[in-house]
Amino acid sequence: MDEPKIKVGICDGYPEIRGRLNGVYRMNGSPLAGEFTARPREGAIGLYDAFDREVLRRGQIRLLAEGKGTFTLREVTIGVRFHWERREEQTFSGDLILMLSEQGTLVAVNEIPVEEYLMSVVSSEMSGEAPFAFLKAHAIASRSWLVAMLSHSKAEKGNGWESEVLREREVVRWYDREDHALFDVCADDHCQRYQGTSVRMSGRAAEAVRETRGVFLIHEGKICDARYHKACGGLTENFSTCWEERSVPYLSHVSDSARPHAPLRTEGEAERWILSSPDVFCHTKDEGLLRRILPSFDRETADFFRWQVSYGRSELEKILRKKSGIDFGILQNLVQVQRGFSGRIRLLRIEGSKAIVTVGKELEIRRWLSPSHLYSSAFIVSTTRDPSGIPTRFTLSGAGWGHGVGLCQIGAAVMAEKGYTTEEILRHYFHGTALVKRY
Ligand SMILES: [Zn+2]
Ligand SMILES: [Zn+2]
Repeated sequence: MDEPKIKVGICDGYPEIRGRLNGVYRMNGSPLAGEFTARPREGAIGLYDAFDREVLRRGQIRLLAEGKGTFTLREVTIGVRFHWERREEQTFSGDLILMLSEQGTLVAVNEIPVEEYLMSVVSSEMSGEAPFAFLKAHAIASRSWLVAMLSHSKAEKGNGWESEVLREREVVRWYDREDHALFDVCADDHCQRYQGTSVRMSGRAAEAVRETRGVFLIHEGKICDARYHKACGGLTENFSTCWEERSVPYLSHVSDSARPHAPLRTEGEAERWILSSPDVFCHTKDEGLLRRILPSFDRETADFFRWQVSYGRSELEKILRKKSGIDFGILQNLVQVQRGFSGRIRLLRIEGSKAIVTVGKELEIRRWLSPSHLYSSAFIVSTTRDPSGIPTRFTLSGAGWGHGVGLCQIGAAVMAEKGYTTEEILRHYFHGTALVKRY
């Protein structure tokens, strides 16, 4: 196969886009360089030069980089919807496509070869000081996930259901590759943070991408949808606990250890597991290593392997009301209805005096039960009650960080530190897969 290209949405919903073409760009064969401004103009896009003269007006404008051309966009909003939203000038290599959104605002898309995109995102997400076998395993997993995602047809995605039976509601949602209409991925944390060529691409993380160029995880001839998460908690989870109801053989339960462990099948087993402290790959207290894996690691995130969150009843009622939009009245019980093999809850029944709602899947549960997100949905609930039986406090004791499907990042880094090779790490998390170089 040829190296695929990816369309990254840099600006979306802008009234105007200002920038500079560094080096020569071509537009329908004619060269263009220097400062430019784009504005919506009578249902099309007007492109203006440094003297504000209209150069072109068209529904979509595609500027093709010649050689190593780059372009700079001014005042790109980064961290959209996050508390650290700010505006910066950013430089990108590759082609620039300007489009109009349905609302008539401007969209800027950067189209680049997949390897170049990976180099940028892997270098900004991973610390170059992490073990090299781990960086290579991660580069292969990220590449496989990305290309599998690009080849999926956008129509086949479902995102959950809501139903109402006998006054009891069921809200089951999952968030799988939320679609962007005009591009493949956005440049923000929503998809993967991408800061163009302004990030250093020379580190060990970029080298890991370069060294594994074109290498994919393959299952039955197809590129794997290789998911990853921070820490499984000792057992990884099945795909269907988090997303659509279908079986993905290489995204199923594994023990994050050299020793096998049976899947958790009963509530008793889940409870014993979550309250235990097993010796597994992602159970590390090595802060030095953690800092080398997670650039943003701090002491607050140190208790990801086994954690506890405790809420007073009215505090949790408030959180639930805000996050779900449902008034539960007096909160009475949190009951797990169904768990996956790693102990992650896939359906949770929330019983209040005014409403009883069953919520799923794992991400929606994590969202509803926390002002931000719970570390994971693998938790058990202990409820303290007053003498009349009304709850006063809910304490959640949990395991792991993230959805738990596929590669466990912390476990994989520990494996690399212990001397496992890139291939051994990938085979451990993605059963029945092979590594194949496709270009
Ligand atoms: Zn996105
Ligand atoms: Zn793990």
